[in-house]
Amino acid sequence: MPILRFLRLKRTSMVVTRFAPSPTGHLHIGGLRTALFNYLWARKNGGKFYLRIEDTDSKRNCQEASEAILKAFEWVGLDFDGEIVYQSQRLKVYQEHIQRLLDQGKAYYCYMDKQELEALREAQRARGETPRYDRRYRDFKGTPPHNQPVVRIKAPLSGAICFDDGIKGAVAVQAKELDDFIIARADGTPTYNFVVSVDDALMGINVVIRGDDHLSNTPKQLILYEALGFTPPKFYHVPMIFNEYGHKLSKRDGAMGVMDYKALGYLKEALLNFLVRLGWSYGDQEIFGLAEMTNLFNPDDLNSAPSCFSLHKLDWLNTHYIKESPTDRLKTLLKDFGCNPLEKLPPFKQEVLLQALKARCATLKQMALSIQEILTPPSTYELNKLKNLEGACKALEPLTFHPDLFSSPESLEDFLHAFMQEHGLKSAALMLPLRLALLGKAGGIGLKDALFILGDQESQKRLKAFLVVVGADKIH
Ligand code: GLU
Repeated sequence: MPILRFLRLKRTSMVVTRFAPSPTGHLHIGGLRTALFNYLWARKNGGKFYLRIEDTDSKRNCQEASEAILKAFEWVGLDFDGEIVYQSQRLKVYQEHIQRLLDQGKAYYCYMDKQELEALREAQRARGETPRYDRRYRDFKGTPPHNQPVVRIKAPLSGAICFDDGIKGAVAVQAKELDDFIIARADGTPTYNFVVSVDDALMGINVVIRGDDHLSNTPKQLILYEALGFTPPKFYHVPMIFNEYGHKLSKRDGAMGVMDYKALGYLKEALLNFLVRLGWSYGDQEIFGLAEMTNLFNPDDLNSAPSCFSLHKLDWLNTHYIKESPTDRLKTLLKDFGCNPLEKLPPFKQEVLLQALKARCATLKQMALSIQEILTPPSTYELNKLKNLEGACKALEPLTFHPDLFSSPESLEDFLHAFMQEHGLKSAALMLPLRLALLGKAGGIGLKDALFILGDQESQKRLKAFLVVVGADKIH
């Protein structure tokens, strides 16, 4: 007894979690959210966070998908402990445990083939019963038929399988709802619930946070824990993420892969912050850096209602994190978006441009596009924004940009004010036409910044081109 108590204490003294994706496609954001919750809880408690690739289903899994998962992990910076566990490399371990259960009489060979099973189900349906394996080989002592048997677990015949889920509360499933389910197929390969239970136990996992689509697997896994003599972990079944139309998000939801968000120009901090808030909250706080969320996260605070995915919210967070990023980091990140025009500017102009765009862009992609737009002479002008085209051209005509004005955006601002005073112009009468002449559009970065970035020659050139295009020479 004292030894048992010691083992128990040792087991529970450190939080050990895992993320166990089946590599059937890219890592979608629902998967990353599960990983993040497990990661945070392990890190908060100074515990372990393991990565296990559930790749036993060789038909559906592929190497590429495993690599895609690792790539996504690397991007967002979730580090895991130890070596990655690949289930496909552990068949021997599973087979040993299956054999152990057979030897202990806790599992048995079942020789029913597919046709027999189907006939049984058909008859049960005809009698209005729920189709279910009838345990006919559970205590079979006769001469076995020649077909390859499956291995079935001896599930309890009465009572209930109960557990206290950290999110759902008390869950109980009547034993009669479950049959002696298969743990090894006729070809000897173990089934899903079996490998998950064996691995979680052998890896010392004591907290499992996963999607509630796995809730119905848990009673089966608990039966296996009991049969194998392992202590089950604490389970937290997290409600799904719904999309804005109230439907479940799935891997097939197009651009829902983690790396798609990178390609769209989201920062990893924004994505992680967004994901942690899908199902978890801490008062009204919206902004959480990784260190802070690690400090505050507790799976006991996870919401029992489904969370709603809002791109608007993600954009809002991304704008925040872009604004907070040093411009050097943005320069590096923008390279991924083929932002070559930026590199043609001298560093001090790059700085002004990025500072000017930082608070205005929801994504890096938008930022790259804005840079491209600003540094390319306009080919069209939003002339419909001007009330008086003739007046606008007249206001712009005398404007000459001397190189000396371009020492800073502020000196350009002073110059524009002095120019307006000298020519008796109101701010809007100069600023809007000038903005259209330089950038083609009414909105965008501050005019003084735009002028400074373009420089005297380019500004003058764009101004001249505008006056030609809108027919200034004919206006006189
Ligand atoms: N491999 C399962 C999945 O990708 C997760 C299993 C688990 O978390 O227990 O959905």
